Amino acid sequence: MNQKNFFEFDFKGLKHFLNNDLAIEEKKVSMRSKQIWQSVYRKGLFELNSLTTLPIELRTKLNSLLSLQRPKVIKTQKSNDGTIKWLIQLFDRNEVECVYIPEKTRATLCISSQVGCTLNCRFCHTGTQALVKNLSFAEIVNQVVIAKEQINDWGEQKKISNIVLMGMGEPFYNYENVKIAVDILKDKEGLNYGPKKITVSTAGIANKIPEAAKDIGTYLALSLHAPTDDIREMIMPINKKFKIKDLVEQCKFYASVVKEKITLEYVMLRGINDSLENAKQLIKLMAQFPSKVNLIEFNAWPGVQYLPTERKDMEKFGKVIQDAGYIATIRRSRGQDILGACGQLRTESQRVRKSI
Ligand code: SAH
Repeated sequence: MNQKNFFEFDFKGLKHFLNNDLAIEEKKVSMRSKQIWQSVYRKGLFELNSLTTLPIELRTKLNSLLSLQRPKVIKTQKSNDGTIKWLIQLFDRNEVECVYIPEKTRATLCISSQVGCTLNCRFCHTGTQALVKNLSFAEIVNQVVIAKEQINDWGEQKKISNIVLMGMGEPFYNYENVKIAVDILKDKEGLNYGPKKITVSTAGIANKIPEAAKDIGTYLALSLHAPTDDIREMIMPINKKFKIKDLVEQCKFYASVVKEKITLEYVMLRGINDSLENAKQLIKLMAQFPSKVNLIEFNAWPGVQYLPTERKDMEKFGKVIQDAGYIATIRRSRGQDILGACGQLRTESQRVRKSI
């Protein structure tokens, strides 16, 4: 009989499956679903036989109908700063990367939402890889499950404390899957990441921001990278469609619903967006909604045309913003030596042309 993959169910779907395909009686469906859900997402048990809380007949039946197979890690790269990048091969053989970034008191996992990307931001390596596909919610959640497996993170005290959707792709161009994936990440019976432990980063798909405020509700990061439409358009083609004015409006709304500051990401490109005049322009934007800015060291990659702003100039830029009363932090680059830093992710997957 056809096996289903556990990770392709959300909790409701799992209940439905137990009820329909396994003919478990209605009043036991919730309990059984919870047992399975918890043992996978909380304990990292991937052998249905080891689910000893389930009656043996049910285990046997489940074994033939449900698979807990996960995509495979096909390459692991460790940076000398402790960052780890995993290359994951999906069941359809497409490849996606995710990055583990340990710090002193916390560790962040950066996951992808698409294979490739449509946005073509000029400074971003992923932008040189055409969109291959949207990841399913299972493929998004699997990155977290796989990372937890790799570093054995099933204890009470989570090693991976934070999750950021800042890997490959634009989360808001894969909205439905991202939404379900975030729901699964948040589920208290499962992976149990609070909404304030998750950050969704967008290049500014303005029309999706209000929806996300209501039904995703995590921290939001906006890849702003420029204080004026002229500059932004030059480095981010998406700005032709959604202008800074629209982004400001939608960010205002997001912040009012979620009641948290929006993080503005600002990659510093020498001679492009890093003048003190630019800092002043940025302050004017920041005054319009609760925000803070993360100044990001530009990470170079083979063939890129930009240069990073020098450290001392980043600091001066940051100081102008701080002096105006706003939070500006400088994000130290991590995992650069393994092309694991922001904007460096790219896999070899290509879109397969449909044969005629
Ligand atoms: N599409 C989403 C999610 C990707 S997040 C977004 O744009 O927000 C990846 C982050 O790294 C974004 O802020 C992106 O602008 C930034 N980035 C891209 N290329 C970079 C580079 N070469 N150096 C530093 N940061 C980069």
